[in-house]
Amino acid sequence: MTIRADLHIHSCLSPCGDLTMSPRAIAAAAVESGLDLLALTDHNTARNVPAFAAACRDRGIAAVFGCEATSSEEVHVLALFEEERNAIEFGDEIYASLPDARHDPVRFGDQVVVDEQETIVDTLQKHMIAASAWSLTELGRLIHERGGLFIPAHIDRGSFSVWSQLGFLPSDAYDAVERVGEGRIDSGDLPVIAASDAHEPARIGCRATEFEGARPGFAALRAALKERRVRTIARSE
Ligand SMILES: [Zn+2]
Ligand SMILES: [Zn+2]
Repeated sequence: MTIRADLHIHSCLSPCGDLTMSPRAIAAAAVESGLDLLALTDHNTARNVPAFAAACRDRGIAAVFGCEATSSEEVHVLALFEEERNAIEFGDEIYASLPDARHDPVRFGDQVVVDEQETIVDTLQKHMIAASAWSLTELGRLIHERGGLFIPAHIDRGSFSVWSQLGFLPSDAYDAVERVGEGRIDSGDLPVIAASDAHEPARIGCRATEFEGARPGFAALRAALKERRVRTIARSE
């Protein structure tokens, strides 16, 4: 089957994510957009992954789990895992390394953890957009130690990308790179994915990655990336 995946989505736990981005709203919007596979990638934490996993199960949509980690060079990186616990453990390690500066929800937006019933159970206190203590290369190691996929995010964007922060793509063991635009990019022989980077429900699925596989899930995604069998699509708006 052709699997359509949106692998970069922020929930209400990301300060920039709209409060309407509850895990259940994300899963519902994904079904509406005809997606088969979803990833939750909040900034520097995976604390909404359990609620997200439950919401996807209820909607019958496949999911992988992760976060968008900020390297010490302020490069955004997608970390995607098959197991919820690996995503949560990785996210906790990143969060623990963030500076202690207290988050200002009025200025930057709320950072709320919800349970499966969408009840707010926690509010994260550190500012989630901050840079972690880990370099790009170290993030790659932490992700691969847990069997995850290491994907520099929005490499063609003018901020928080390898190009904006470093000016080049260092030679590391990436599993793919993510693009957000349509222009030419120099990704070497790496597979290229596209994703919505949605912060509000209407954006979910506006960009996506397609590949062939027997069943939507982490194994099919990993195989498609390894064999360079992915293509990017964008919805005309
Ligand atoms: Zn980003
Ligand atoms: Zn993002």
